[in-house]
Order: sequence, then structure tokens, then C-alpha cells
Amino acid sequence: MNRRRRIYEGKAKILYEGPEPGTLIQHFKDDATAFNNKKHEVIEGKGVLNNRISEHIFLRLAEMGIPTHFLKRLNMREQLIQEAEIIPVEVVVRNIAAGSIAKRLGLEEGMPLPRSIVEFYYKNDELGDPMISDEHVTAFGWASHTELDDIMQMSLRINDYLSGLFQGIGIKLVDFKIEFGRVVENDMLRVILADEISPDSCRLWDIQSGNKLDKDRFRQDLGGLVDAYQEVAQRLGIINDSRPAAGSGPVLVTDNSN
Ligand code: C5P
Repeated sequence: MNRRRRIYEGKAKILYEGPEPGTLIQHFKDDATAFNNKKHEVIEGKGVLNNRISEHIFLRLAEMGIPTHFLKRLNMREQLIQEAEIIPVEVVVRNIAAGSIAKRLGLEEGMPLPRSIVEFYYKNDELGDPMISDEHVTAFGWASHTELDDIMQMSLRINDYLSGLFQGIGIKLVDFKIEFGRVVENDMLRVILADEISPDSCRLWDIQSGNKLDKDRFRQDLGGLVDAYQEVAQRLGIINDSRPAAGSGPVLVTDNSN
């Protein structure tokens, strides 16, 4: 049985104490939830795919100078991460109208936005993650002005980079959600990218067919979620076959890049 100390259990992930002080193990579950936990299902294979897709994206972002919490992959479902104090603000970057912005502002899904828009939400399940402004973030001390500047800058750079990355594999990056944490480095506080970036936290549309390759497949009861995530992993070059042998789960390629 698992005797590691559980630090936190979220909807799709568990954090365990890591092997060294200042580290944690991030475990990706197969659970899918939506509408603030009102809809819940276990989708076999999702956690394995998100672990690999998020690892791939965090490594690419680190290469372009975005500091992240990712240290290394441990196994199919787990990665070693740097422990950070999570800033209780979810940052959403949008390029195309979909989801809550389409509903809130009466926009047609698929309409390109005049420019990329950054939104903030207060990370609080009981309140249903309400939308907030930058004023709330600094007034309530969730992040300082300098930290918020860093968060804005990093979010837009991440959007630019990921839009290009996905464009190159025939996928439109409609929107995504990211989270940041703070760590102490050389006696200084530094903001780093935390949590995950995966089809659970992004909207990804196939450019040719318009097919949804993200968690909207679950939210909208479209089915085929694991196939869609596998398609994303395959196009990113993480897995070598989109057709796993029956019952065996995703076929993962061993990569030697780390
Ligand atoms: O629902 P909404 O349109 O505001 O979501 C924007 C983006 O943020 C979507 O890609 C969605 O998957 C992601 N998101 C998330 N976790 C939340 C809320 C939104 O990953 N709690």
C-alpha cells in the first residue's frame, strides 16, 4: 500500500511528500470532473497521458526560459516537482471565444478574439472560482504588483510559444488555464509556473476538422476523450501509436531527453 505522506488531494491530482525537502511528487489521477465537481467520471488512461503531455510542455517552456516546478518524471503517473507556495489565482489566456467567455459575453464559439485576453479567477472551489480583476489580486495580497507583472509577462509568452507549438501540429490553442507558485531562491522570492498544462486545462481544436481534442469532450458528453488526448500526445511526438492494443492503455515511447 501507499505509505507516502499525502500533502494535498485535488480533483485530478494528488501531491505527496517528495524524497528531498522542498520537493513533492505530483500524481495524475484518471478522475475527470467538471462544473465544479457536479460531473465526475474515472477515465482510464487519462492520468498517464496528462503526466506525459504536461512534462513535455513544461520541458519545452523551461527551454525558452520560463521557470517551472517540473524536476523529472518518476513513472507513468508521477513527476517530481519543486514545492512552491501556490498563488490562489487561476490565470486563463484566451485566443478564441469558447466556454465561459462565450457564455458571459454572448459571443459565438469559435470567434477569434481581437487580441489574446488574460483573465484571473480566485482559486476557491466553495465559491466556484469566481472571476476577479488584477485589483483584487494585489488588494487582497494574493500576489504583489511585481509578481503580477511577472505572471502577466510569463502568461503571454507561454501563450505565444504554445500557440506556435500547437499550430505546428495542426492544432488551434483556443484557451488555457495556468497556475503559479512562489519559491525562495538565493533568499529571493521567485514566481514559477506550477500545476499542469494538458488537454484537461487547455482547449485544443484540430485545425482541419474542428474536432475538440480536450476536456470539452467530457464536459459536453462527446466521448472519445482518451483517443483525443492520445492524438495530442502522438502529434507532440510523445507516443508512437494512436491505436493501443485492446486493454493495454497508451503505448509510451521511452525518450532519452532527460
Ligand atoms: O470555462 P472557461 O471557458 O473559463 O475555461 C477556460 C480554460 O481554462 C479552458 O481551457 C478550461 O479547460 C480551463 N480551466 C481549467 N480549470 C478551471 C477552469 C478553467 O483548466 N478550473
